[in-house]
Amino acid sequence: MPEKVFVDIELNLPKQLEKDLLENERICTTCKGLGIVIMDNNYGLKEEPWIRGFPYKHQSLWPCPDCYNGVQKVCSYCGQPGPRQYIHPEAHCLCEKATNERNSLAAKKEKERWEKADKMGIEEAIKRFKLVFVDGPDEYILSEDIKKYLAELREEPGLPMPYVWGTRTEALALPGADSLIDDACENLHEEARDNISREDIKELQELLDQWTEEVKSETITYFPDYKIGILVE
Ligand SMILES: [Zn+2]
Ligand SMILES: [Zn+2]
Repeated sequence: MPEKVFVDIELNLPKQLEKDLLENERICTTCKGLGIVIMDNNYGLKEEPWIRGFPYKHQSLWPCPDCYNGVQKVCSYCGQPGPRQYIHPEAHCLCEKATNERNSLAAKKEKERWEKADKMGIEEAIKRFKLVFVDGPDEYILSEDIKKYLAELREEPGLPMPYVWGTRTEALALPGADSLIDDACENLHEEARDNISREDIKELQELLDQWTEEVKSETITYFPDYKIGILVE
């Protein structure tokens, strides 16, 4: 059983702290600007398994978890602080104004991306892409089904027509035989790498190519191609 002692805090503290607050900064409400708080640092004892949890304390002074230096940054719209690591709380704040502002910024960026992209009609897109990407729902749709998909979207009132984009694909690609052998020889004796002939390397490369070709179709992955906008209207 620990012995409880009380330590008087005797610090040579000034009466006041000076803070030069910038716009969207306020004195922290947790530590009242001090920048430090009392932490309990609770603990328990193994030899007292009948006492659950951490009933004892080693109280000490710690940096305040809700601010830096006693100052909090606040959302410029609603004045509430976010987690202290956010330099611009309004970029994350869930208040209505900050959310609206973020949404309209995102919409503007999307519009700019659309305006910059090359455009292509639906018929051409059906010939060129197996799948197309629909922004908003963020779905990949078989290009031949895109008209039907959009018609269904149109029936839902209030939904803006989403941007539809072309797609690009990536499939499994292995490092070349040369680089595989380089890596594998790294810790071997000095001539190990040189003892492997050009023919041996060529043979491995052919095996790799053949294997890659066999599994490739199973690994094809689609990504939106924001350089090609598909005109749906
Ligand atoms: Zn604080
Ligand atoms: Zn806010």
